[in-house]
Amino acid sequence: MPNKQTTDMQQVWQQDRDHYIHPWTDFSTFKEEGSLVLADSDNVHVKDGEGREYLDGIGGLWCVNIGYAREEMAQAIADQIRQIPYYSCFGHHTTVPAAQLAAKLAELAPGNLNHVFYGCGGSVANDTAVRIIHFYFNQLGKKSKKKIISRIDGYHGSTYMAMSITGVKFDHIGFDIEEQLVSHISCPNPYRRPAGQSLEEFCNEKVQELEDKILELGPDNVAAFFAEPIMGAGGVIVPPEGYHKKTLEVCRKYGVLYVSDEVVTAFGRLGHMFASEAEFGIVPDIITCAKGLTSGYLPLGATILSDEIYDVISKPQADGALFTHGFTYSGHPVSCAAGVKNIEIMERENLCGHVKDMGQYFEDQVKTLIDLPIVGDVRGRKFMMCIENVANKETKELINPDAKVGNRIADHCQARGLIVRPLAHMNVLSPPLTLTKEHIDFLVATLRESIEATMEDLKAEGFI
Ligand code: PMP
Repeated sequence: MPNKQTTDMQQVWQQDRDHYIHPWTDFSTFKEEGSLVLADSDNVHVKDGEGREYLDGIGGLWCVNIGYAREEMAQAIADQIRQIPYYSCFGHHTTVPAAQLAAKLAELAPGNLNHVFYGCGGSVANDTAVRIIHFYFNQLGKKSKKKIISRIDGYHGSTYMAMSITGVKFDHIGFDIEEQLVSHISCPNPYRRPAGQSLEEFCNEKVQELEDKILELGPDNVAAFFAEPIMGAGGVIVPPEGYHKKTLEVCRKYGVLYVSDEVVTAFGRLGHMFASEAEFGIVPDIITCAKGLTSGYLPLGATILSDEIYDVISKPQADGALFTHGFTYSGHPVSCAAGVKNIEIMERENLCGHVKDMGQYFEDQVKTLIDLPIVGDVRGRKFMMCIENVANKETKELINPDAKVGNRIADHCQARGLIVRPLAHMNVLSPPLTLTKEHIDFLVATLRESIEATMEDLKAEGFI
């Protein structure tokens, strides 16, 4: 077993740079700079190969909700491996944690979302939703109902279908996407709404756009609308008040299924196990989730279906079709054991209660950064926040992309012992939910210092 005390970190750095194709990586800088090797962790901190400690402002990737290196998680995972490390759940086999976790998710999910299909992450959960929705409408004899509507700047994953549903246009450059099935409507980003437009008018306009798109494509051709409660990777966009309820009403009017992508927002990030109903007052037809489901300790995603959808896909089909969908690792017992233990910890420690309280303090403190000259918008809720940097706060004009302002701020933070995520000209924050007041004060003070240091750089180089 590799021992972190004796591992040659320089060699690891080299092996990584020479052989590992990293996800979502700018190869031009990667080939020069290589990686920060993360080798150790504890609660809200991670350590690099040289032993330097960082407060993790992004919870790995919006996922380490219960914090790092929980002994109880290691124990539950090891116990499951010793008992039965794998068995296929195809057909009529199951394992104890796969069944227990499904029942727990059915209990926690809103409305009658009582049926759970497992995959290995968020992209697969969304791809599964599409396959199930198509199968569902086929079985109802509505074979033309196939098209999916999603939003510009929505993020739904990196498999072919999930990336096609994703609306972050930058992510499509150089790749192909499925264009026959997917249409995008505009993003409900209140910060970028036309000057002088009220939030209510803006909301109604965006809702109307969904209805117009359904009518343009033909209600008989539209199967589903995919939406994150708060758009994450698109820049933590909180839609205007009432947007989700009104878009759900439009979907109901035309028999379009509503898929709430809770890959980021579920399991405590906003102070609820699921945010759709508790935070936004809607009960969708399908919820997809991943990440915080195991707090990232092991890969797992879930597609949670309403009774109505389950009843249709599980009844004997006139055309003899079976539910021929699934993966070798659907319901992997070790991942599911991690999920069961993760939720048990969250409930026992009342982490959602902590987020309602400390997450509010976090939100309030991060919002104080708005006084900085390049900070145009600070948005988000609880432990899901974003800072949008601009050249001009009045006109909201962006800083020249060559300045890589998001990266610079992240680099300054890293040099000061804090990891934040750059996202073009923005920085996002999604820390472990166990953050305390002291951690928050350090995080916000460090971020302020780092933005100030970045402003000095930008001035010196003539960018602002
Ligand atoms: N949906 C959302 C809202 C996400 O944020 C992500 C990942 N960041 C995904 C889907 C895809 O999840 P995964 O990377 O686990 O496939």
